[in-house]
Amino acid sequence: MPQYIARIALDVPLPKLFDYLADGITARDIGRRVKVPFGRREMVGLLLEITDTPDCPPEKLKRVIAVDRDLPPLAEDVLALFRFCAAYYHYPLGQISLAALPTALRRWQFQLPKQVARYSLTVAGRQALPESLPARAVAQRRMAARLSAGAADSTELSNLCAGAMPLLQTWLNKGWVEILKPEKTPFQDAPPPLLAEQESAFALVVRRLHEFAPFLLHGVTGSGKTEVYLRMVEAVLASGRQALILVPEIGLTPQFTQRVSARFPDTVISVLHSGLAEGERLQRWKQAAEGKARIVLGTRLSLFTPLPELGLIIVDEEHDASFSQQEGLRYSARDLAVFRARQRNIPVVLGSATPSLESWHNANAGRYTLLTLPLRATGAKLPELHLLDTRQQPLDEGLSQPAVKAIGETLARDEQVLVFINRRGYAPVLHCSACAWVAPCPRCSSRLTLHLREQRLRCHHCGHEEKIPPHCPACGNPDISALGHGTQRVEEALARRFPSAKIVRADRDATRRKGSWENMQAQIHAGEANLIIGTQLIAKGHDFPKLTLVIVLDADGALFSLDFRAEERLFAQLMQVAGRAGRADKPGRVLIQTGFPEHPLFTHLVAHEFADFASEQLEVRRKGELPPFSRQAVLRAEAADLDDALAWLQSARALTPAINGVEIFDPVRAPMLKKAGMERAQLWLQSPSRGDLQQLLRDWMPKLYAQTARNIRWHLDVDPAEN
Ligand code: ADP
Ligand code: ZN
Ligand code: ZN
Repeated sequence: MPQYIARIALDVPLPKLFDYLADGITARDIGRRVKVPFGRREMVGLLLEITDTPDCPPEKLKRVIAVDRDLPPLAEDVLALFRFCAAYYHYPLGQISLAALPTALRRWQFQLPKQVARYSLTVAGRQALPESLPARAVAQRRMAARLSAGAADSTELSNLCAGAMPLLQTWLNKGWVEILKPEKTPFQDAPPPLLAEQESAFALVVRRLHEFAPFLLHGVTGSGKTEVYLRMVEAVLASGRQALILVPEIGLTPQFTQRVSARFPDTVISVLHSGLAEGERLQRWKQAAEGKARIVLGTRLSLFTPLPELGLIIVDEEHDASFSQQEGLRYSARDLAVFRARQRNIPVVLGSATPSLESWHNANAGRYTLLTLPLRATGAKLPELHLLDTRQQPLDEGLSQPAVKAIGETLARDEQVLVFINRRGYAPVLHCSACAWVAPCPRCSSRLTLHLREQRLRCHHCGHEEKIPPHCPACGNPDISALGHGTQRVEEALARRFPSAKIVRADRDATRRKGSWENMQAQIHAGEANLIIGTQLIAKGHDFPKLTLVIVLDADGALFSLDFRAEERLFAQLMQVAGRAGRADKPGRVLIQTGFPEHPLFTHLVAHEFADFASEQLEVRRKGELPPFSRQAVLRAEAADLDDALAWLQSARALTPAINGVEIFDPVRAPMLKKAGMERAQLWLQSPSRGDLQQLLRDWMPKLYAQTARNIRWHLDVDPAEN
């Protein structure tokens, strides 16, 4: 009898599987968790293959310690998804496989949360209980008193006295207490009849439920995309299959989840996000894997959830950067959603008011079917956008006179104002507010980046450096400054201007504390706050009923970003934030302060011309041979000292195989040089052909794994979302 060998995925940073002797293990165990010895430890792994031809002599192999046969094995399609990720992102299969499991399963012992039942007294119990209890039955009296005060759950009652559970069982049998049913979502009105465009979008998808069919659903905020998703999900559930809905960040959009559960009150829905307790996440994951949950609603990681009867994938806000994981396995959940739909032969619907240029390009090229919802479904008008030219008017603490006036008038009408500040990720540039001069690099076609602490201007492309000039070289204005104002400074200025306004500040710092984001939203909703200062976070948030004015500050930084996606992101963010303003009866207004009002980004934005903006951007990308007209990968390295990182990249570059059609750039410092005490550098690769680039990476990566230096941390980013 041949000796079978188990090939096991382990969470180890090496691009290989590990061989173990597999007594009593068969091919039917593939996809199961196993416990194995590794070095001096024991590790949890995933059994991926069975073979009778080991890589090394069997007598050198150790034995599998245990196989978990309580949980069902991961299905073959999920394992194939892991393998695809490993091959495409050139990342260790073992690390992918383990990272895709719920955290609780990465340890051998795991616990599902106990079912917590809630008990309450029945009418009979209310009458019978106090009388029938003898005075000395202290525990029973305590329980009865607690239940008379209202429903209580089993955990609480068990803490009241020993023997609580048998006692409850007795009372249940006598009909004195009852177990409360889990709360149902309140009944919802019948869904509205679809508008003509919604109907045709819906019909096109539903006609192709049993084939791979990618769709791009394009419609402004409020155009009725969600309503269309819900109908499609309904159709898929009716055909006996499961639906997977991916959203950028669940915590920020509780109303989306509420809407889904209100529409399908009798359906088990697994809501998956990173805020869940481990056991809870596992429970919901398991429900999906066993086919009990018919809808999975979750953030990017839910893409890996096993779904035996998957029939549809929806990616809402498909352009959103949070679908790109930026640590560990760097992947795009949106791209993987399309892969998974192809693999399962089902439709995938990507929805957005401002689709990513990649998806838009795919739709233009006929690879995706474009579905368009042109109007707001409720008949509400689109918000009006206006540009405030900051060259024409002096700014006081970042605010122009017309902006201040509009804020005052809106607050006086008892409506709400959002002051939106956009800063994240943009390198600061030096700017003259009088003539809109921006410090250029004399040697490149790029802008110099301001390094305030060192009082220097620096080019991140060629390394040119100079001192900060005392006044504007173009017009002599001494008032030149960095583009950008922090949220705190704006908050102080607004508080001085509008002492009676009720201000809240919603940025990452203010929302990091647990529950504070919910509180803030509730406050705004209840009208307890009327002046909201927020970053991109708020753009994704709730619909605030009395919000009629949005002021946008600091939009200009993105126009000079080193990141070629900055304009695309800015357009999307401003569209999204504009979508927050106004309701059917109260049209919204958006005022954008800019020193560059002629910039095509702003003129298209104001005219609600996404298609024109997108085709101009795509033209720029085509000329510059940038994605989606080329494919990129970037090898990033970090070390205590930049020179070490650069030297390592240089030696890595020397190992690249010669493959025509792949451009390999010189190592450069990262736009953000230092992070967490490490200095960072990167090496870009680019090719018009995905196949050529992938071939190069396939040859190259094993050599890099073989030559790791101890003082260097490195990783590869395929289709990087950021510079
Ligand atoms: P989106 O997801 O594009 O922002 P929603 O689906 O949330 O749009 O729709 C916006 C608003 O219009 C919601 O209040 C929704 O209930 C309403 N709505 C959507 N479709 C219809 C329809 N066919 N008839 C009437 N109201 C609709
Ligand atoms: Zn000037
Ligand atoms: Zn330069």
